[in-house]
Amino acid sequence: MRGRFAPTPSGRMHLGNAFSALVAWLSARAGGGEMVLRIEDLDPRAQRPGVAETLIDDLAWLGLTWDEGPVFQSARSEVYARALERLEDLGLLYPCFCTRADLRAASAPHASDGALVYPGTCRGIPPEEVERRSSLRPPSLRLRVPGEDDPAGTIEFCDLAYGPRREVLARDCGDFLVRRSDGVVAYQLAVVVDDALMGVTQVVRGHDLLPSCARQSYLARLLGWKPPCYGHVPLLVAPGGRRLAKRDRDLDLGALRSRGVAPERIVGALARAAGLIDDEVDLTPAELVGTFSWEKVAAHREDIVVDDEFLASIVR
Ligand code: GLU
Repeated sequence: MRGRFAPTPSGRMHLGNAFSALVAWLSARAGGGEMVLRIEDLDPRAQRPGVAETLIDDLAWLGLTWDEGPVFQSARSEVYARALERLEDLGLLYPCFCTRADLRAASAPHASDGALVYPGTCRGIPPEEVERRSSLRPPSLRLRVPGEDDPAGTIEFCDLAYGPRREVLARDCGDFLVRRSDGVVAYQLAVVVDDALMGVTQVVRGHDLLPSCARQSYLARLLGWKPPCYGHVPLLVAPGGRRLAKRDRDLDLGALRSRGVAPERIVGALARAAGLIDDEVDLTPAELVGTFSWEKVAAHREDIVVDDEFLASIVR
């Protein structure tokens, strides 16, 4: 078994990121597996100097250890280019000229989560027209998904916490991006290529990425790889239900560390939130390996509200 933690270094880690990292690490270690750390720094616009280094330091401070990495996605453009070529050879890619505004105007929102379903606007644009439009504006690249009635486009898997899932690509997302118009490889493709080439067999991450699994499994199969198994963990949210974000500065590890909070205190509080332990105790990740089970995580899969009581259990 090989797990991974794959943060995007767009700001200081907050408690929600630490929670995902901890559960991913415990799941791999409890299964006697290895862990990879991958820094998802593909988007040059989202980079700020020093953020990745601080993130790596915060993870070590929490007591999380790695068998491989940190691997930086920004250094791997050739492997993504090769995967794009393979998809191109399969005849599955096409250029898309839609702007964000076009997409908002033309796409139907997906019923359950409001994400936009691409309506296929740029499928089948003739080559001369592609050439003409490309000279005006660089296109993005989309992957053509099977029609709604084609069983190849129905993806079924069993999430370790959220149970059996079934998605129909044509209905739930439509043809999806594999490269942005600025040339940056899309998250969906990079993640699949990296997980496969790094030998990752188990993907554990925040619940917000559950809808990506179908696209990622589908891409993995197209590229000739067995998809990993998936386990999603609840999100940490503010009392109104809003998910924690980089702007919740008082909950980031920088703020907590400068208040003198011990890493074991944070790890203990997160383990309690995950349902792994009952008592307010300070523990290292290594001390928690024996208590880990997906049944416990699955029994606590509601969003975790970071309220005053939760905070008091950390800063006491
Ligand atoms: N880089 C993504 C994030 O930080 C996570 C990717 C993944 O775990 O698949 O949200």
